[in-house]
Amino acid sequence: MENLLYDKDCNCPVCKNKFKTKKVRTRPLRIKKREDDFNVIYKNDINPLYYYIFVCPKCGYSATEKEFQNINKEQVNILKKAIGSKWNERSFGNKRTFHEAEESYKMALLVAQILNKSKTYKGGISLRLAWLYREINSSKEQEFLKHTLECFEDAYEKERVEESGLDEVSLVYLNGELNRKIGKYQEAIQWYGITLEHPDIKNKRQIQLKAREHWRLAKEQYNSQKVAY
Ligand SMILES: [Zn+2]
Repeated sequence: MENLLYDKDCNCPVCKNKFKTKKVRTRPLRIKKREDDFNVIYKNDINPLYYYIFVCPKCGYSATEKEFQNINKEQVNILKKAIGSKWNERSFGNKRTFHEAEESYKMALLVAQILNKSKTYKGGISLRLAWLYREINSSKEQEFLKHTLECFEDAYEKERVEESGLDEVSLVYLNGELNRKIGKYQEAIQWYGITLEHPDIKNKRQIQLKAREHWRLAKEQYNSQKVAY
């Protein structure tokens, strides 16, 4: 398993500390399953999600690799004031345990909150944390799916979606899927509807099929929920 990991050198833009963090070699990874909300499960004895967040051991600054250097002087000062001495120095640069991975996501969410990062960014982190909880069958999965949905529904109204790394069709489909997973079937049906009517849907055959299938599924789930009451 260890040879799937390698060290990456990082420079912290907040405290200027140099540190190493593990990254996962993607070439040897073999896909076991793609889940309907885009989570990918691998056959290898490793979960790349554990290493998605870079954490500076010295000051606690945490972000995704893509966003790590994206911070200005003013934000650095805000962050130093907000976290400062509350952080206990510790390294996340070795093979991570579940709890270290969990903590890295919590820190990244906290930093994103303090720096008022985009909803698409926060949603992306929150979704991955929900996937981590799913792996251990934790009820916290639902909590973070709900948080993700709040971010993404808001993002759809107000932000440039492509910043999330997702195209708009994928995002609206995902909003359907997340609503369905937390039992909000009517909302799910609406989002699948938006997905299927999207002008770009013709280029997204897989999502089109899934959205149709799950639109029907959500209708069934909604009807059986009504019967249950
Ligand atoms: Zn730092």
